[in-house]
Amino acid sequence: MTTTDSTLSSNFIRNIIEEDLKTNKYGGRVHTRFPPEPNGYLHIGHAKSICLNFGIAADYGGLCNLRFDDTNPTKEEAEYVESIQEDVRWLGFDWEDRLFYASDYFEQLYEYAVQLIKKGKAYVCDLSAGEIREYRGTLTEPGKDSPYRNRSVEENLDLFERMRAGEFEDGSRVLRAKIDMASPNLSMRDPVMCRILRATHHRTGDKWCIYPMYDFTHCLSDSIEGITHSICTLEFENNRPLYDWFLGELDVYHPQQIEFARLNLSYTVMHKRMLLELVEQGVVTGWDDPRMPTLSGLRRRGYTPEAIRNLCGRIGVAKAGSIVDITFLEHCIREDLNQRAPRVMGVLRPLKVVIDNYPEDQVEEMEARNNPQDPRMGTRKVPFSRVLYIERADFREDPPKKFFRLAPGREVRLRYAYFITCVGVVKDEQTGEVVELHCTYDPATRGGSSPDGRKVRGTLHWVSAAHALEAEVRLYDRLFVKANPLDDKDGSDFKSYLNPESLETLVSCRVEPSLAGALPGSRYQFERQGYFCVDPDASGGALVFNRTVSLRDTWAKIEKAQGKK
Ligand code: ATP
Ligand code: MG
Repeated sequence: MTTTDSTLSSNFIRNIIEEDLKTNKYGGRVHTRFPPEPNGYLHIGHAKSICLNFGIAADYGGLCNLRFDDTNPTKEEAEYVESIQEDVRWLGFDWEDRLFYASDYFEQLYEYAVQLIKKGKAYVCDLSAGEIREYRGTLTEPGKDSPYRNRSVEENLDLFERMRAGEFEDGSRVLRAKIDMASPNLSMRDPVMCRILRATHHRTGDKWCIYPMYDFTHCLSDSIEGITHSICTLEFENNRPLYDWFLGELDVYHPQQIEFARLNLSYTVMHKRMLLELVEQGVVTGWDDPRMPTLSGLRRRGYTPEAIRNLCGRIGVAKAGSIVDITFLEHCIREDLNQRAPRVMGVLRPLKVVIDNYPEDQVEEMEARNNPQDPRMGTRKVPFSRVLYIERADFREDPPKKFFRLAPGREVRLRYAYFITCVGVVKDEQTGEVVELHCTYDPATRGGSSPDGRKVRGTLHWVSAAHALEAEVRLYDRLFVKANPLDDKDGSDFKSYLNPESLETLVSCRVEPSLAGALPGSRYQFERQGYFCVDPDASGGALVFNRTVSLRDTWAKIEKAQGKK
């Protein structure tokens, strides 16, 4: 097995938790949560957060909740709620009976808002969104007080109640926290707590026409759930004083927030907003397009949860942001599939080979190993006959130096079968393209070695033409041509770096007959080609494969060059 769950490896967050356990800070409890906003499908960045939160809970005998931070009815959908649950489960984590929604706390949050108004710590403000922005000031200049800042508690209570009752237009008023318009931290300059918005919420329907803002909701949801360690990404560091303020003013249970750096991967983007753009503009076929860094895309592409968990464990958790090389992700899936994926033979770009001296009606069953890494996976029979297909790239009429595969007059080994020698080349008269090869075989080399000790340097995969199944194969490449598509120094939109060749579809590939009826999601190594996974588009006997990853391990080379291995 691969070293999948290396989440136990220490990191600064675990050090904090261990210290808290020592000092009995939360009575020995560890309670984390994964809090997605259901406004898109999860991506591999979320996997880092999931592994961290669920992993920590598991390792310290604690609990981890799944909570939807659903405060934004215009961008959220039940479809996302479903997909997120499916993805978290697929990754291998279980929230048991702890599935929560921030929207379940709307009433409680309303009560908290009323408490703050009564304390003189919140007020109804009639400035427009633009004016609020203007009054906020900048990083270098303090903001200005709103003219509505000093409304009486009674007036605020009355207005807030009427906001809820639907008396005012969308956007005409907001509830704001009364903190400090001159604070060096912009989040503290009287942030908006609630807004008026007539939109149907995926859970509360039309019950509410006011919605709490994310910052007000998030910290209090953690508090309501008794979360001990609120682990979040670095961009929330500036919001922490605001969270502390809400919790402190309301005098409620106070979780500890800890920030860590987001996972970024090269040659892709990792924001739901951007991924949604790709989906909506039809750049990809959907959230689960195998080129997407979403968990559903990676799953469809053939990634295993083990490989993703392994990556998340190995990249570690730090305070400083960085971009993980996508070849490292590819390395993790190769490592996993090398152990578990059965080997098969599939020819992606077929070239016909006729073995002239092989009897026309003869078929032999050749014994092939299912996985040289794991003899327990056994063997299978692969039919061999007079007409075969080999890979077009395995023949060169005029072979360059170091090309050890087939060429006129050259002898090579067919995997699990015989030595063959190329004795003739048939070309298309018009185009000059090679369309067929004629070879002879040596019956004494069955099984792949010659009794006279004769050596050949090339071993090719093949399929029997009469027995092979036709398949469509989708070859994927990076979605972007630029390592960091967000690095827009020249002012370009990230979409201008899309790789026009990220998908190549091959329609008349031939695979060995053992693949008949292969179920969607099944993973194989096509010998010498890479790892492939049956796509759900495969139906009614038509086979469709996605290439998960090729066999060439660029990451291993990088590591070698760095002298790590
Ligand atoms: P996006 O920018 O993709 O919309 P988000 O942070 O807005 O991401 P949420 O649904 O709010 O998405 O995220 C849920 C949790 O996952 C949060 O705790 C967030 O910090 C974490 N998370 C999101 N993206 C990453 C990432 N790239 N690496 C690690 N954790 C992440
Ligand atoms: Mg978010």
